[in-house]
Parts: sequence; structure tokens; C-alpha cells
Amino acid sequence: MPQGQGFRRTKIVATLGPASTSERVLTDIIRAGVDVVRINSSHGQPASWAPWMDQVREIAAQQGRYVAILVDLQGPRIRVGALPEPLELLKGASVVFAPEGEAQPGEIPTTYGALAQDLQPDSCILLDDGLIAVDVTGVAENRAHGVVLHGGVLRSHKGINLPGVQVSAPAVTETDRRSLAVALEHGADMIGVSFVRRADDLEAVRALVQSHVQVVAKIEKAAALDDLERILEASDALMVARGDLGVELPYEEVPLAQKRVIALANRRARPVITATQMLESMVHKPRPTRAEASDVANAILDGTDAVMLSAETAVGEYPVEAVQAMARIISEMERSVSIERQPQRRRSDAQAALGTPTVADAIAFATSVAAELLAVPVIVCFTKSGFTARRIAAHRPAVPIVGLSTEVATCRYLSLVWGTIPLLAERAPTYEAMLGKARELLAAEGLVEPGDRIVVTAGVPFDVPGTTNLLKVETI
Ligand code: PEP
Repeated sequence: MPQGQGFRRTKIVATLGPASTSERVLTDIIRAGVDVVRINSSHGQPASWAPWMDQVREIAAQQGRYVAILVDLQGPRIRVGALPEPLELLKGASVVFAPEGEAQPGEIPTTYGALAQDLQPDSCILLDDGLIAVDVTGVAENRAHGVVLHGGVLRSHKGINLPGVQVSAPAVTETDRRSLAVALEHGADMIGVSFVRRADDLEAVRALVQSHVQVVAKIEKAAALDDLERILEASDALMVARGDLGVELPYEEVPLAQKRVIALANRRARPVITATQMLESMVHKPRPTRAEASDVANAILDGTDAVMLSAETAVGEYPVEAVQAMARIISEMERSVSIERQPQRRRSDAQAALGTPTVADAIAFATSVAAELLAVPVIVCFTKSGFTARRIAAHRPAVPIVGLSTEVATCRYLSLVWGTIPLLAERAPTYEAMLGKARELLAAEGLVEPGDRIVVTAGVPFDVPGTTNLLKVETI
């Protein structure tokens, strides 16, 4: 299908898993509108990802789409170790946490050897998505003692969150290094960094990946919110990872944290994904709840670039319907609400946030204004790295931005950027030659008709990222 038809400006990220990796379902979810697939390295074995990644490439190519692959590293996620049997924790009971391998019968084994060193009396340990809470009463050597505040049945490998605790584990664990090796070998486009605490955590990952691989900072700790500006500067995209964020923070703080992260990302022209439990009930049901539909709609109104499905597509009973539901909500929002009508505020915010604007900033701003004043059907942006396209997208123009790039990696990155249609073009030596290619591609995609005007931006000379210095209005 030509990409201009049914184009949605808000992008869809879908997590892969047993429910979505058959050829049929993968074909259907990509057809239903998935722009980015996510592989969550917390589940499954790296050996199983390679065939998934190859299949995504194949199906996306069959459909003439650029679908990016995001591999999410587990990071310093702490878990309960293997329990011989589920452990019933009763309110008021005393419990002991010990490193896996050293835990005695009755103690709770954990995957993090330095847990006791990082805790203090009065720290809180949350287990199983925060459903079980333990108040730490003391630490002795490598054991943490506590009293159960909210009880429940604890099972093996459940997650552990330590709100407010400065976890000293490294940002990239040995497990992450193994995951990263497989992800990169099979061509991952984006790497998700979990439990980011500071900008250095992102640098640690960046040092291990090729330059075209995008680093996505998952915002899921209070410490990350405290250092958001620097984390944003060190990343290529952000994810509001509401699952862990809602355990690390009081859940009532999540909505405003989401708005704050999205607003800052918009101002700094960084793509941002809103994630987790967006259509959670669709794990078992064919329709979302009204509250879920409203949640997706509100994230769009907040200005998110992308909305994400997790368990819904990874293990749910209705993976295709979940993507279709996302697409329906997005289409309705974009049809009924002029998201681009908020840009007066966005433009002035963007200008204020830029400090001393560059030529590229001025061109991006002028492009979105010219596109609006001239009511063109598309903006065409010749973009080497995706830099200019995302800067234009930050202004949320009223028409699609065609990101025309000679780099496949850039096309895949742009699949995450709001309002952007990625198109691959062969390299052309001059602006005129590039424009010729653009005309052909735009017509083939059904994006323009003879006589239409288009606004074109480019950096001349080509091939130097971030040098956008040209804005022209052309007629088809
Ligand atoms: C989250 O916590 O919201 C999240 C996206 O991370 P994960 O799915 O890896 O837990």
C-alpha cells in the first residue's frame, strides 16, 4: 500500500513474543501499522531473536515499509532468584533476602549480590510489580532483613524495585553484553537502556554500539527524572516506561511525569515513546476499555511520538486486534483534533529551548510555517542522519514530513519520528538530481499530484549530517 494512504502521524511500537512471532501474526501486525518492533531481553533467550529479526526484515520489505527493531536491554534489573516453590509472605512476617547461591531455605534469593550494601533500615523493597512490599529493618553483611508490609504469594524470578535507593549495579551487566552482541550481530536499529539513572549510563551503552544505532533512554526511575535534561542530551530517544516508573514512584505521580518527559522531549526534538499497559485488558479481551482508549488518546494529546504495546502483542490473545485498536484511536485523534494546532506554544517553546538557534533550527521552523501557509500536501526533507526531519517534526507541522535518505538506518530511525514517512533514495550528486528522485518516489507513494507545491529542505553539500541550510518551494 502506498505509504501516503491511511498515514498515521503517531507511531506504533509493538513488543514481540510468542503471541506475535509467527509469520502470519507478524505480517498482520505490520500491516495493521506497527512501525517499530521491540524485543524485550528480559524474556526469552537471545538465540531466539535472530529468526524474529530476520523475519521482521523480510515482512517489512514485502510490505515496502521501514520497521525498526528496538532491543531493550534488561539493565540493572534486580530479580528474585529461583524458589523451590511459591512463598506465601504474610503481612507482619519477618523475611531475609540473600544473594542467589548463598540463600538458605526460607530466605529469599536475589540476583543482585550487593543488595544489602545498597539498602538502609527503612528502605522499601517492592516485589512483583509492587504488589508485595517489605520494610527493611536492618542489613547485616550480605543479608537484608525486613518485615512484610503488604503480603502475597512470591514466585521465582519476580522483579524487585527499590524506590529511592541508589542502586550501585553497573548500567550494563554481563547479561546485557551478551544480549547486545546478538542484537548488534543481527542488525538491531535501536537499543533500549533500562533503569537509566544518569547520562553516563547511556554513554556506557553508546560506547558498545555502532554509530548508526540509536540509544533509547527508558525513564523509569526517580533519579532519571531528576537528571532528565542531561539524559535527554545523551540519548537519541526517550521512553516513558510507566511499568517500572509506577513502582519506583508513587503511581499517582506517573501522569505528570509522563507529561513532563514528553514536553521536554518535544522541545528538544527527541522522539518519545509512551509505554506499558496502554491496552492491557486486550491481553485477554478483543476490545480495549474506555479508560485505555482515553489513555492512548491522552498520550497523543501530550505530544508523544509513539505509543507502545507490551504484553498485548508479546503474549496476548489478540495481538493483531491490539495494533488495530491503537491505529483506530490514533486515526480518530488525528482526524478530530488538530495536534498541529498547538504549535504556537510548541514553536515558542522550541525556540526558547534551543538556546542560540542554529541555521538548521531556523530552517526547520520556517519549513513548518511555509508548509502551513502554502497548504502543501507534504514537506520533503533530504536527511542523512534524520537530524533535520526530527527537528521539523518537533514543530508538529500539519502535513506529513517525507524523510528522504540514502541510509537504510536513517529510514528505520525515522519510523519512530512523529509525522514522518521514511523513504530510501539512491544517492544523487546534486540538489536537482535528488529532487528528480523525490518527485518519482512521491508520485509512486501517492503523496502528491501534478501541480502540487511541496516544501523541500536539504543540507548542501549532501552527506554532512546536521548542515541543513536550504528551503525551497517546488512544483510537481
Ligand atoms: C516499563 O517498565 O514500563 C518497560 C517498558 O520496561 P519493561 O517492559 O522492560 O519492564
